[in-house]
Amino acid sequence: MSKGQINVQTENIFPVIKKFLYSEHDIFIRELISNAVDATQKLKALSTMGKFEGDLGDLTIHVKVDKDAKTITVSDRGLGMTAEEVDKYINQIAFSGAEEFLQKFKMEDGNIIGHFGLGFYSSFMVSEKVEIVSRSYQPDAKAVRWSCTGSPDYEMEEADKADRGTDIILHVADDAAEFLEESTIVSLLRKYCRFLPIPIQCGEESHWEKPEGAEAKEGEEVKEVEVKRPRIINDTHPLWKQSPSSITPEQYLEFYRQLYPMTFEEPLFQIHLNVDYPFNLTGILYFPKVRNQLEIQKNKVQLYCNQVFITDQLEGVIPEFMMLLHGVIDSPDIPLNVSRSYLQSDANVKKISSHITKKVADKLEEMFKNDRENYEKKWDDLKVFIEYGCLTDEKFYERAKNFILFKNVDGKYYTMDEYRAGVETLQKDKNDIVVYLYAHDLATQHVYIQSAKEKGYDVLLMDGFLDTHFINLLEPKLEKCRFARVDADVMEKLIEKDEPMPAKLSEAEQTSLKELFEKCVDKEKFTVQIANLSEGELPIMITQNEFMRRFQDMQKLSGQGNGMYGNFEHYNLVVNGNHALAGKILGESDEARKEALTHQLIDLALLSQNLLTGEKLSDFVKRSVELM
Ligand code: ADP
Ligand code: MG
Repeated sequence: MSKGQINVQTENIFPVIKKFLYSEHDIFIRELISNAVDATQKLKALSTMGKFEGDLGDLTIHVKVDKDAKTITVSDRGLGMTAEEVDKYINQIAFSGAEEFLQKFKMEDGNIIGHFGLGFYSSFMVSEKVEIVSRSYQPDAKAVRWSCTGSPDYEMEEADKADRGTDIILHVADDAAEFLEESTIVSLLRKYCRFLPIPIQCGEESHWEKPEGAEAKEGEEVKEVEVKRPRIINDTHPLWKQSPSSITPEQYLEFYRQLYPMTFEEPLFQIHLNVDYPFNLTGILYFPKVRNQLEIQKNKVQLYCNQVFITDQLEGVIPEFMMLLHGVIDSPDIPLNVSRSYLQSDANVKKISSHITKKVADKLEEMFKNDRENYEKKWDDLKVFIEYGCLTDEKFYERAKNFILFKNVDGKYYTMDEYRAGVETLQKDKNDIVVYLYAHDLATQHVYIQSAKEKGYDVLLMDGFLDTHFINLLEPKLEKCRFARVDADVMEKLIEKDEPMPAKLSEAEQTSLKELFEKCVDKEKFTVQIANLSEGELPIMITQNEFMRRFQDMQKLSGQGNGMYGNFEHYNLVVNGNHALAGKILGESDEARKEALTHQLIDLALLSQNLLTGEKLSDFVKRSVELM
């Protein structure tokens, strides 16, 4: 018997890198700059420890794009590498075999490698040849030049380099020529490297300034002239890395504008995250005013690892409702060189994500407890976020239930407990169920709201676009409680009490009244009911069954507006048999007038529900004139 190892050839690594990383090939710049920053930080650390005694000098990282020579050069003044180190860190690792390569970078879920840092080797995605010219910080180190054309063979030789540090020279391949535009590189640097701690310079930019020492002539202003200055890409001390106690509200706002120059609305408030145990996490999360288009508001939180931008596609990485927030999250515990599916399943990322959720809930609770008045002022803008959180994250609901507010039609706010205590006695029906009445539109439901108020009932304003979902969530959680929209039925039925109202009309009269109205409406759309309400109630009302309506609302929300069930809007036409007009119509001897009066009443009801339009509206106006 003989044992052996299948030898996987390394020749094919580069085609693999090119092919699989094609869609994400711009990350090479992030990788090269991160390495340059690492090398610089390491040298600074050595200097602090007294192991490097030279002068650190200017540590700016330079990125040069040379379109004619077809090169991109990244130069740092970090700790550099000796020939041995190049051999160890560059040669050995990548050429240790395709097996390791495939293991390390294996595709997940059949996905293309996706969000992936390949470190130094990602530069081969855009290069036909890569050179490293490096000189170690060590006093008598010799400079070394390494070059490789993408086959496993590389060349190493001594080089001339006066200064310490490393130049990485990419000879850009023809199919990646777009990267030879300085503007492309600048925008990539701004995307990935905007907040790195070491200054990065690429090209120059124009400033308009008054020349120094220039004196204005009589009656003239000094003219500004164009001056070219090195273009520095990054803000080396981003706000989230600073101590919260030293930051003013204006600075938070300014940072917000820096992050989202195209967003004009100011955030409501922010949370500054600063955790060092059990993991390291910093960041600033802003609460925006959440409007009803949830999707376009997502993907604004930016994820960083040690100030290097990783992604703003956080679907599945943080809870869905957290994606409505804005701002940055930075953690060295988030793996940099991974695909998103890896991010989603990473244990650290999960811990971080639930920690953030907790922080957010804590902040809201603290605001509610410490300054309720202010919290109430912000509630209308916070509501969608909190409802969305409750709907998508059970744990969040458990935390939020103490600071969820109900707002009534008079603009007063209550916690859920307060509200229950307030309406419990009066709004309990004969089955001991407390009925929470609500309206979704103050103007169109005015009649119904009035009718509730006349009975001393309170009416909540539920005008948010998630409210129907939210009510469905709350109902089973709140014991012995039911929500009913004010127009779901007549008040007497919505909150049914023990003692029914006596009827003024006989059974026979009620039947003929019903038939009369049925003759005058579209039966597909309306069901006529005769109800015995108090005389003071309206003579006629249109109501819509609570559950039918909710079902419809939910369908509309999920984008199936006129979906497979079509438009099945159905209403009840409730005629108050005890109202004086009911008797009057029944007693009318002129048949034509009787019908006209019936139509008139129906139209009035339709009108109050905004259901009377077009020809029917014209008919109504004409008939009104005639009847007068
Ligand atoms: P990683 O950064 O994850 O270690 P890389 O492939 O990006 O992997 O880099 C491999 C190694 O090469 C680094 O760990 C570092 O030791 C060395 N290296 C790369 N770029 C530089 C540089 N600009 N200066 C000094 N050392 C470098
Ligand atoms: Mg690296």
